[in-house]
Amino acid sequence: KLTIDVKLPDVHKYKAVKHILLVASGKGGVGKSTTAAFLAQALSAEGGRVGILDADIYGPSIPTIFGVRDAKPTSKDNKTLNPIIKDEISIQSIGFLVPAENATVWRGPMASQALNQLLNETEWGELDYLIVDMPPGTGDIQLTMTQKVPASGALIVTTPQDLALADAQKGIAMFNQVNLPTLGLIENMSHFLCGHCGEKNHIFGQHGGADLASRHGVPLIAEVPLDINIRETSEQGENILTASTEQAANYVACAQLVGS
Ligand code: ADP
Repeated sequence: KLTIDVKLPDVHKYKAVKHILLVASGKGGVGKSTTAAFLAQALSAEGGRVGILDADIYGPSIPTIFGVRDAKPTSKDNKTLNPIIKDEISIQSIGFLVPAENATVWRGPMASQALNQLLNETEWGELDYLIVDMPPGTGDIQLTMTQKVPASGALIVTTPQDLALADAQKGIAMFNQVNLPTLGLIENMSHFLCGHCGEKNHIFGQHGGADLASRHGVPLIAEVPLDINIRETSEQGENILTASTEQAANYVACAQLVGS
C-alpha cells in the first residue's frame, strides 16, 4: 500500500512544455544518463526544442556529458533559475547546485522536494520535450517524482544481464502502478562489436531485453552496442551526432520513435 502524499501536478507551471519524458533504469551504471543526453541531442537535431533535467541525485552526470561541468545557473529574480544552454539544449542539473557528496546522503523527502523545485523553478521556456534523467531504482524518491511530474511516458534503459533486467522489470511495474505508459525499453551495452573481425559478441547474454519487452507488451526501441566511442563522447562532453556517425544513427532512430 502506498503511503506517499499524492498531489496533483501543478500543470500551469509546465504549460509551455509539450512532453515530459522520464528516462529511468532499475540499476545504476547501465547508461541511463548517456542515453538521456544523446536522446536529447537527437531530438534537438530532429528540430525539437529540448530541455534536460538531471534528477539523478546519486550521480549527476549530465553536466559532464554536455561538457558544462563548471557552469552555474544564474537567476533573474532569486526565485527562478535559468537553465544552462548548450547546443540549443536547455540543461538543469542537481549537480550544478549541490556537491555530489552532499546529495547522496539526503533523505527521500528532502531529495524529492529539491527535485520538484529544480523542475518547477527552472525557466524552461517553450519546449517540445523535457527529458528527465531519473535517479536509478524504484524507491520512494522515484515513485514520488513519477506521481508528481505530469509526464507523457517513460523510457527504461537496461543492460542484458539478468540482474539489470530484473530491476528494469520493477521499473515497468512502478510506471504501471501510477498509470504512466512505458514508451519502450532501450537495451544498452547490448553486444560488443569486435574491432578486428566485426563479429557481434553478446558478452552480457542475449535476448534478455527483447524477452522482457515482449513479456510486458513494451516496444524494444534500440539495442545499442558497447562502443568505445560512446564512452569517450559522453566523458569528453561531445555531441554524439558530430562525434560518431555510426552511433548517432542509433539515437536518431530512438528519437524518431519517441517523437512520433
Ligand atoms: P547511468 O546513468 O545508468 O548510471 P551512465 O550513462 O553514467 O550510466 O554510463 C555509465 C558509464 O558507461 C559511463 O562511463 C558511460 O560513458 C559508459 N557507457 C554508457 N553506455 C555505453 C555504451 N553503449 N558503450 C560504452 N560505454 C557506455
